[in-house]
This record gives sequence, C-alpha cells and structure tokens, in this order.
Amino acid sequence: MDKYHHVAQPILNGNEKKYVMDCLDTTWISSNGSYIHRFEQEFAQFIHTKHAISCSNGTTALHLALLGNGVGENDEIIIPSFTFVATANAVAYCGATPVFVDAESDTWNINPLLIEDKITPQTKGIIVVHIYGHPVDMDPIIEIANKYGLFVIEDAAEATGAEYKGRKVGSIGNSAIFSLFGNKIITTGEGGMITTNDDVLAQKIKLLKGQGMDPNRRYWHPIIGYNYRMTNIQAAIGCAQLENIDWHIEQRIRIAGLYYNQLRSFDALTLPVQKDEVKNVYWLFSVLINDATEGQRNEVIEGLHMLGIETRPFFYPMHALPPYQHLHSASEFPVANRLGSQGLSLPSSGNLTAEEVQFICKSFKQVLLDVMHN
Ligand SMILES: *Cc1c(COP(=O)(O)O)cnc(C)c1O
Repeated sequence: MDKYHHVAQPILNGNEKKYVMDCLDTTWISSNGSYIHRFEQEFAQFIHTKHAISCSNGTTALHLALLGNGVGENDEIIIPSFTFVATANAVAYCGATPVFVDAESDTWNINPLLIEDKITPQTKGIIVVHIYGHPVDMDPIIEIANKYGLFVIEDAAEATGAEYKGRKVGSIGNSAIFSLFGNKIITTGEGGMITTNDDVLAQKIKLLKGQGMDPNRRYWHPIIGYNYRMTNIQAAIGCAQLENIDWHIEQRIRIAGLYYNQLRSFDALTLPVQKDEVKNVYWLFSVLINDATEGQRNEVIEGLHMLGIETRPFFYPMHALPPYQHLHSASEFPVANRLGSQGLSLPSSGNLTAEEVQFICKSFKQVLLDVMHN
C-alpha cells in the first residue's frame, strides 16, 4: 500500500506556521492576543454578520448559542435526527429535550414539512444543520419560526462558505455555529465560532464563554459562566486558513466534480444533490449505496480500507442512540434510518488529485460489486 487516502485531512499551506511562530516568539499563547480579535473580525466579514465570537470548539459554540437564547429545563428544541451527536448533546447540556425531525430524501437535511407537527407549548427553538455542506431550505423554516415565535440556530459546522439564495449560511438564523475541527472546511485544530447580528445575544455569549465575568469589573461574576475560550495560537491558524478560504472551498467543489464525473452513471449509488439557488461546499463527498444493508455498507468500508482508502459511515440517527432512544419510535424516521445504514463518505481532502479520485472510484465500484453480489 503506497498511500492511505484519508476522508479529510487539514491542509496548512498558507501562513499557519509563520503566525503560530509569531505567537510563540511573542509569548501570546493563551486566550488573549491580536490573532483572536483579527480572526473574529475577518470571520464576521466573511459570513457577513455583525459579530463572530470564537470559542473552544463547535460543540461549545452550540451550547453557548442555546444558553444565549435562554434555553433551560423543560424547553424543547427541534433538531434533525440525522446530524452529528453534538447537536443533540448541546440541547441536553442545557437540561432541555431534543425533538427529532426526519430528513429530506434528496438533501438529507431536516425536512421543513415535518417541523410544524413537532411544535408544542414547550418548543423554544429550532436548530437546523447544513449537512455535509448542503444548505438547508431556510425560507420555510424561518416562516414557521416567525409564526410560532421560535429562534433558529444554524449548525453550519460542516458548511463554512455555503450559500443559500446568495447569502452565506450562518447569516440567516438568529445565530449560527461553525466547527473548526481538523477535518472541517477550515480548521484551527479544535475551535468554534458563533455568528449573529444581535448585539444583546453577542454580549451574553461573550459573558458566558469567559467565566461569566463582568467585562467592567474584574472577578465579579453575575452569572455562572464557562471557560469556552479559543487560544491565540488556534486563532493564528484560523487567520491563515481564512486568507485561503476561497481556495479551500474551491478544492471541495473541484473534488465533488471529479466524483460526479466518475460515479454519475453508476446506478447502484445515490449521489449528493445541488439544489437551485444554493452553493453546496461538499464538506465530505457522501453517497448512498442503494440496496445495501448496514452490514453490506460496512463490508464496503472494510474492503476499501484494505485498499488504502478511508471511508466513513454516515452518522447513526439521533433517535437510535442510547441517550435518546426513549424519546421517539424509530419508525418515525424512514429517511434518517436509510441514511444511517446506506451512507458512506468518500475521501474529500482538498489535496486529492484527479488520478487519486479515479483510483478511489475504480476501487469503490469493484468492492461494491463484490459485496453486493455475494
Ligand atoms: C463537527 C460538528 C459539530 C461539532 O464540532 P466540534 O468542533 O467537533 O465540537 C457539530 N455539529 C455538526 C453537524 C458537526 O459536523
């Protein structure tokens, strides 16, 4: 095996090293320093929001956005069942209950048509997730939210740079969160960002992330806060990544194009879509194996691993996980169930070459035929 093809590797080909060295040379390595401020300013400019608030990761970003919106015990928050577990866990951290909604069969995002039925007097808000980089259909969701007085948080962890009707995702809900984990569109190693246009919400989130300390009175803590801060070193990496963000996004889209060319005519698969009026950033190029059982899908993953190709199964739907199983009956989520058992993400690192994608696709078809005909 000459080379192992990873699903998503960070690419640090800009000023990352230079800026990190600057932190070390100047000893600004903790959560103060000029890169933090610069990264937040430039991130806000990129998303076109008034505020961008850095924090330690995407999960703490979700927790802060929920706390900032006043979520607590006895509240219900509507979320997609098909998401990464952090979306559900952040709701649970607040003592609130996640209420799951099934996915759309084409975009794999939360199905707007199924939301209204899940609203009760306890419902406080909706978290939408732009899954694998394809924007959620926001208009009908904002309409429902306005009708019932709910907030909308966008979980844009996988979708930095994606656009919905000409607007960047992360600028449409009352607030949004981004993940800067090593495998996301851009990275700070571990890191998160919250964007909003709401001044009051931004102040509240800043207070919560910094131990709840009054900005004008040292060691005076009017509320119980958290230490959810990002370090200047992380922000330094983030500044360098942001300088090249258009390139990082273009690579994801280039790779998706290569996969479409190779796999389009292969009718054993369902490929991701690109709906009208949106820009999909294809965080991970992800497909469904149409007639596969979960066991067969897993055999394909194993077979590709043996050939030096890493693939990832889709997330198990939230309603299937032990902490959340009791909340719903699994039969309510036919689409999420199908995604969980037939889905697979292919290598999507920005530095993949056309030859590598060709090799991956050839191997994929071969392994798939072997598994499905045994
Ligand atoms: C990655 C991810 C998160 C969590 O981000 P971390 O930075 O890993 O904490 C949250 N939601 C979704 C949809 C994600 O993919």
